[in-house]
Amino acid sequence: MKNSIYVTKTRMPIQEAFFQQCSDFFQSSWVTNNGACVQKLEKSLAEYLDISNIISCNNGTTALMLAIQSAGLAGKKVAVTPYTYVATLSALLWLGCTPVFVDVEPDTLCLSPDLLRRRLIKEPDIAGVLPVHIYGLACDVESLDAICREQGATLIYDGAQAFGSRYKGKSLLAYGDYSICSFHATKIFHTVEGGCVISHTDEVHKALSLARAFGHIGDTHYCLGINGKMSELHAAMGLALLPGTDAEIERRGQLHTAYDAALEGLGLMRPIVREGQKWNNAYYPILMPDERCRDLVERALLAEHIHPRRYFYPSLNILPYLNQKWRTPCPVAENAARRVLCLPMYGDLSEDHVRRATRNVRNVLRYKVQVQEKA
Ligand SMILES: *Cc1c(COP(=O)(O)O)cnc(C)c1O
Repeated sequence: MKNSIYVTKTRMPIQEAFFQQCSDFFQSSWVTNNGACVQKLEKSLAEYLDISNIISCNNGTTALMLAIQSAGLAGKKVAVTPYTYVATLSALLWLGCTPVFVDVEPDTLCLSPDLLRRRLIKEPDIAGVLPVHIYGLACDVESLDAICREQGATLIYDGAQAFGSRYKGKSLLAYGDYSICSFHATKIFHTVEGGCVISHTDEVHKALSLARAFGHIGDTHYCLGINGKMSELHAAMGLALLPGTDAEIERRGQLHTAYDAALEGLGLMRPIVREGQKWNNAYYPILMPDERCRDLVERALLAEHIHPRRYFYPSLNILPYLNQKWRTPCPVAENAARRVLCLPMYGDLSEDHVRRATRNVRNVLRYKVQVQEKA
């Protein structure tokens, strides 16, 4: 609908900027297979993120699968957070991994290091760990790193939402044995569809590049591969959008401040920003006191043509198609998933939109607080 506000709006470059990036492959007709735009994008990303080993991919899910496969985790037990987008888990399942759900910390909604340590000690055959920097917010990377080292498990971060987030002076994507990012149109930086894998040795980097393109060079076949290549069109989109990314992050920061002010004093839970982190402000999640309240707030917003999203619902450990044996309880994640809503967040949003989106949230929650005080 014309007047509707959705949870996100795809960031578009100036048309000329995109066409300018496309001009090379219009001349050369080299539209995929590690073309000039892809090489230029990988180089630009390496500079922007200050990370040397980056390979671009056709999407974040393939990026995850390449990392999991390259780490030798296919078919093995992997500990994973239940509080994430379903693709984190589906990448594991497509590779025949057994997911071991480990609950999240209540204040950050990221994988709990304490629960992870206990689980790894109890089940030493867990070969890998897959935490998520949810909403672009940093996991407890120091603790997770120490535990994985101590227990000999490979650490792969799903940083699909973390582009532009920094922690202790580095890109958040620099942590872990591997990190992946998504460049999907809904993400803060995007290539329409796309993603990348970050690794830390030239050897792994080479293996990932091979696996991304069917595992062979000419007639020599080295390893099992897949088609995970990014096309020139997608890379051109990325090249046109990368320069505006810092401004987008800053603008979202201003909108966060506007939301914070409008929702102050309502007792809403918000996941915390860890000390030492510079957040990319990618999302604006709020946790209502309970699910009924969440439903009321959503209904009130929809009446004003504002479409929030339940990022992320349900907690993945209770997905209906999972093997019954894997469906272990994760009370913190399940509870958060029932109470969460993400409010609209994108650079084009105005302060007026923020006022419109928070008015009804305030009314519903104030009423709730009054009822509680009377009772
Ligand atoms: C978006 C997302 C993915 C999937 O990325 P695609 O590029 O859409 O394949 C994976 N994990 C998380 C946490 C995401 O948010």
